[in-house]
Amino acid sequence: MKPQMENPFAARSYGALEQVSERVYIFRNIVNSSVFVGDKGIAVIDTQVNHALARRLKELLEKTFNKPILYAINTHYHWDHTNGNLVFKEAGAQLVGNKDTADFMVSKAPRQKAFLASRGFELGPDPLLHDIFIEDQDTFDLGNLTIHCQRGHSAETDDPTLIVCPQENVIAAGDTVMTGSFPIFGQPVQQEGLENDNWIKAIQQVRDIGFNNILPGHGPVADEAALKKLEDICRYFLDETKTAFDKGLDLNATIAHIESQLPEWISQIPEVWGTPRYAILRAWAGLNDLGEAGWQHVKPSTIPENKEAAINSATSFDNESAYIECAEQCKEGGDLAQSISLLQLAHQAFPNNAQILTVTGEYLIEASKQIDSVLEKGDCFNEARNCWAKALEIDPNNAQALIADAQFLVMMSFRNGDDPDKGQERLNQAAAAGADAAKVSFYQGMIERTKGNETEALQHYQKALEENPQFMPARLAMMG
Ligand SMILES: [Zn+2]
Repeated sequence: MKPQMENPFAARSYGALEQVSERVYIFRNIVNSSVFVGDKGIAVIDTQVNHALARRLKELLEKTFNKPILYAINTHYHWDHTNGNLVFKEAGAQLVGNKDTADFMVSKAPRQKAFLASRGFELGPDPLLHDIFIEDQDTFDLGNLTIHCQRGHSAETDDPTLIVCPQENVIAAGDTVMTGSFPIFGQPVQQEGLENDNWIKAIQQVRDIGFNNILPGHGPVADEAALKKLEDICRYFLDETKTAFDKGLDLNATIAHIESQLPEWISQIPEVWGTPRYAILRAWAGLNDLGEAGWQHVKPSTIPENKEAAINSATSFDNESAYIECAEQCKEGGDLAQSISLLQLAHQAFPNNAQILTVTGEYLIEASKQIDSVLEKGDCFNEARNCWAKALEIDPNNAQALIADAQFLVMMSFRNGDDPDKGQERLNQAAAAGADAAKVSFYQGMIERTKGNETEALQHYQKALEENPQFMPARLAMMG
């Protein structure tokens, strides 16, 4: 059966609370937050990717349980688990973590921030640090419900905290356990993750604690089968990469070799953040000195290219529109790689032409739609935004570049449930520069939808269709 195409503009719920045991819940979103509910109050484990989502979670907890949030505990330093700390602190919670997590939240922040910005994620203000270190207090009484924080073995990062609750037979394992999609195995610009077999020991530690329900950092609640699968993935990539390395293959040959023979039980795992290629790169980083932390700087780009065909088709072109028209035809014919290479040639020939840059950016966004991993899409996102920035340097009121960048920002915040302020600012600039009125109305609608203002959103979609009855995104948005 063919999977149904998801409507990319449909209203989203931004996470849901699921009950795991009598007094334990999990909030499932692109990252999970675990919730322990005692008689006196609540402990929330991990504080979500941004302030807007943290506020949604906080309000949901207050509404559902009507109890104070006493503690917000970070399982490790990564942005997606700590960014909402301020929101819970303001709600009266004390922030809890281990001393390494607090250290990493500062010392690893610049690389983390630069990397995520290059993937299109705006991190906002740095997360608030902890009030209580687990080295000083590791047991927390929530009122007839006690949780214990325990240092975990290195896995996704070198600073994990495990939260165990014997009364409920539950352990919140952070990113030591990830289920449902391919694990990411550490941040691409940091030295962490699957660079050796530490992760396998970390899984054994979780297993040895021996509880019924394991709450992962990402994905559905785990059981022994999920632990075993994660362990098998770790072993597979460590072993295969080492074998290729010992045979003397270089990185590109190693990637090509392992990717060409992935067993079905691996290739059928959905890709959201991590990919098999990331696992190979990570294991490779453990075997080689790559000059700096992580492997992002040696990763092959996902931007499609077909330079040879582009050079052949462009031999007689002497003006910019010849390039753009030919790129358009290649795109219609399904060869986006040739289109992008053609536009790159056009940029070399006409470096001060804003139109070429703007179209290149749009085609790169098209190319990103063929990539599953939200981090891998980032190669295209980053280059697209560079193109629009350059176009706007040449022509600050270029309406097409402004609306393209606005569209990107608005859709990123819509997908991540983030505050759409930056997208709003860009959209206002685009409108003032005379951008396509249907697009302006439509993306204003997406901003309202992100904020939960459905009535206003529908009015804007309607207006977009009045401007342009053929504008398909507005039709889709009105269906969902
Ligand atoms: Zn995570």
